[in-house]
Amino acid sequence: MHKKKKFCAYCGKPLISTQIEGKVREYCTHCDVVFYENPLPVSSSVVVNDKREVLLVKRRNEPYKGMWCLPIGFAETGEDIREAALRELKEEAGIEGEIVRLIDVDTVDNYYYGSLAIVTYEVRAVGGVLRPGDDAAEARYFPILDHPPLAWTSNEKAIGIYLDFYRDTWAMLDSFKQLSPELSSGEILLDSRKKISQRSFLSNILVKIIERDFEQISEKWLGEVGKNIPSLKDHLDVLERINTDILRNIQLWLKGYRKKIELSPFLDAGSELGKRRVFLPDVLNAMALSRKSIWIHVLGQNILLSPLEIYTTLELNNRIILFYDKVVYSLSFGYMGQSF
Ligand SMILES: [Zn+2]
Repeated sequence: MHKKKKFCAYCGKPLISTQIEGKVREYCTHCDVVFYENPLPVSSSVVVNDKREVLLVKRRNEPYKGMWCLPIGFAETGEDIREAALRELKEEAGIEGEIVRLIDVDTVDNYYYGSLAIVTYEVRAVGGVLRPGDDAAEARYFPILDHPPLAWTSNEKAIGIYLDFYRDTWAMLDSFKQLSPELSSGEILLDSRKKISQRSFLSNILVKIIERDFEQISEKWLGEVGKNIPSLKDHLDVLERINTDILRNIQLWLKGYRKKIELSPFLDAGSELGKRRVFLPDVLNAMALSRKSIWIHVLGQNILLSPLEIYTTLELNNRIILFYDKVVYSLSFGYMGQSF
């Protein structure tokens, strides 16, 4: 149980409790010294492995004996608080770690220790062997989204902050894995270490969706054109060819393989539509529907969810708009070549 000082540490005379600076404090009238109560510094670490499991230790001693918690312990005088976290990790779980970032600082009033300042770090395991130390009855990894109740509320809070931090990244990795199950998570992690930009990451996802759902996107669009633009009903053969060329070329465009788009198929198609005297504004309208159909399809996959992803998508959309501008220009140019 947390104990209160009764005697002066300097002269040994009894302390009195008195109101000082708005609070009841212990005071030595003989030495004129106030004994301030300060929180004890505690250092704790969140270690998560590749399987999104968090390292927990089972407490051998009171308080909270038998409960699980993050590796945690008091920092000692003269010890760097980060070193304290790593030392406790090694002592309690056998794991050697390095600090990744500060996650949280929390103050709590504990019935056993009194006031505590708990500092929690994200720590990456870099060595050691997982085994419980003196203070721990057990040490093991638990799924971070399904772990036993923890002894310290500050631990729960820190894990919550950790999850908030990684939610977007994990959602992105998951969506990517869903699209490319052939890629192991290891390869994806390797890629993320190479710091592939978010833009190229999303471009890749988009290219994969178009590749995979090519026919579905095309058919849906043709259906919409046939239904909404009656004048084009008899020319769906040419339009389907145009859309196929668009979907093929836009992949190369997004991959960045081509700085210039191959425009001759669109010039030819425009020319063909001109020969057939198809109403040009309706063709341009169909192109607008084609561009929309790609985005409607992508958004329907529910993979662009976070603000960052949606923000990046706007930039990607600009590249697609530029692509379509060129297509529309070429179609019109080919078309006019027939009229004049
Ligand atoms: Zn004294």
